[in-house]
Amino acid sequence: AAKKTAGNKAILYDEQISIEKNEQLRIEARLKKAIADEEINVYYQPKIDARTNQMTGVEALLRWTDGELGFVPPDKFIKVAEDTGLIHSLWKIAMKKACYQVSKWNEGREKPLSLAVNFSAKQFQDPCSLISQVKEILAECQLAPELFEVEITESTLLFNTTETIKALEDLQQYGIAISIDDFGTGYSSLSYLKKLPINCLKIDRSFISDIREDFSNSEISEAVINLARSLRLKVIAEGVEEEYQKEFLLQHGCHFMQGYLYSKPVCAKELESLLR
Ligand code: C2E
Ligand code: MG
Ligand code: MG
Ligand code: MG
Repeated sequence: AAKKTAGNKAILYDEQISIEKNEQLRIEARLKKAIADEEINVYYQPKIDARTNQMTGVEALLRWTDGELGFVPPDKFIKVAEDTGLIHSLWKIAMKKACYQVSKWNEGREKPLSLAVNFSAKQFQDPCSLISQVKEILAECQLAPELFEVEITESTLLFNTTETIKALEDLQQYGIAISIDDFGTGYSSLSYLKKLPINCLKIDRSFISDIREDFSNSEISEAVINLARSLRLKVIAEGVEEEYQKEFLLQHGCHFMQGYLYSKPVCAKELESLLR
């Protein structure tokens, strides 16, 4: 009987894998079509200085609703795009739309908004062409490199290390800021952080979400804030939803925030009304 159960499990496991494989293939096919038909949109989530309640910048986030699949969460289609090489086309869409848009918003503004775009680890496999494309798009849209920010996760740094670090150094020297996204969920060693070309740590949402209930999470958030301070890095909290989280962060010296407390990611038109 034991043998039989194990056999059934193996079959279930194989079935599960082929279901996932099928889903991925379907997403890949529809995603290709969506890219060609220009059905991919960019949403913007404000980054706020909580001391003044001013919007200092935005993060560009991709949105895709497919005619057959319906709304596909970014985590899902980004993963497929990374596995199939479509990620670069998606990145270009995000870059071009967002740089153009933010540059346009900045025309009438006293204090220009900054723009953050998410970069995948895979993209650093060809750093030279990546860097030249970044520079080209910024120049085309007349967005100052000082207003541009690259968001990467810790895992990006573990992947292709030397090449990636060189690429980030190049971008940083050009005036671009480098942020570590979802900070605290990866494996960065502290001594490593000191050597990396980074400007900002983004405290992961999971630590912020139960700052009140979970003592270790509030301790971790505090530790990241202090770490950023001693390394002279900027620090921003993501996923700020509640007033008490904002108060906690302000009290501990983190005043840049992003989250539903201020705004969800919104389309360009809605962001314009937030700016007014
Ligand atoms: P991320 O870069 O960490 O983006 C933050 C995610 O948290 C976004 O999810 C955002 O909608 C969500 N979020 C923001 N504030 C709150 C909050 O207060 N509460 C809660 N519960 N969630 C909040 P989204 O848009 O679904 O994106 C998920 C991930 O997909 C992003 O995580 C990023 O890793 C990836 N992604 C999105 N656009 C791109 C892109 O253009 N390129 C790449 N490489 N990845 C992207
Ligand atoms: Mg991000
Ligand atoms: Mg994040
Ligand atoms: Mg994330």
